[in-house]
Amino acid sequence: MLQELTGKRVLITGGTSGVGLATARLFAQHGAKVAINGVRDPAQASCMLSELGAEAIYLQADLTKSEECQRCVAEFVAAFGGLDVLINNAGGLGERRGLEEIDDALFDRVMDLNARSALMVTKFAIPHLRQSAKASGTTAAVISTGSLAGREGGGIGAGVYAAAKAWLHDIHRNWVKEFTKDNIRFNIIAPGSIDTAFHQDKSPALLQQIAATIPMGRFGQVEEVAPSYLYLASHRMSGYVTGQVLDVNGGQLAP
Ligand code: NAD
Repeated sequence: MLQELTGKRVLITGGTSGVGLATARLFAQHGAKVAINGVRDPAQASCMLSELGAEAIYLQADLTKSEECQRCVAEFVAAFGGLDVLINNAGGLGERRGLEEIDDALFDRVMDLNARSALMVTKFAIPHLRQSAKASGTTAAVISTGSLAGREGGGIGAGVYAAAKAWLHDIHRNWVKEFTKDNIRFNIIAPGSIDTAFHQDKSPALLQQIAATIPMGRFGQVEEVAPSYLYLASHRMSGYVTGQVLDVNGGQLAP
């Protein structure tokens, strides 16, 4: 048990399934106060909250819209009185389309979900993270979910998604320059192929084909990704780590 995370106030966007929900469970097990965000109806999120502890909350917000990002952060702070760790995890492929089929609507949808959402949530979180670092005398943390695709271009038809993740990897470096003086750290977790709803459009044959390209020979499990967020949230363990991309991919890409 990481005592240090007890009572830490953690906002996890896209926390209702997959990597986000596994991460929420792990933070809750270490005593953190967790909010999970998603688009589904609050009634559908109630079963998730019961396993995250009495203080956990659900924040319904469509983060492709900037005003919803602002409301999400405001509601989090109203509930917990501040914000110590922000995990920008909401994201997704949208749809697979080759370059010649891409239109403005697809571009906007994928960029809004993977890039704008993280930018706007982080923007509205900054004053609270700054305050958290000042009050604790340590650091506050922003951890965003990037992707292997952000490093190697993504599969055919996933170009805009991959570029959005590369954009996220890069803008973190900019935020390091702007906010290290405020003791806010920014790091990326870049998962490889993880067994979640993200891959539900693929046939069993294709999934096997992908698994064969991974040195470990299999997709990762969400429980194998979640501990990396814990590490990057902990000032004791990673207080001197900022501006990094941590690959969690079974050896799929060795930079
Ligand atoms: P997932 O589909 O289970 O999770 C996506 C989450 O984003 C869900 O909780 C969903 O509710 C939320 N979300 C979607 N649209 C939203 C919106 N408009 N506003 C707020 N929340 C929204 O899949 P996952 O694999 O757990 O994905 C989590 C993150 O990991 C994503 O950013 C994804 O791009 C990234 N990722 C996944 C893989 C993989 O192989 N599974 C690989 C690399 C990166």
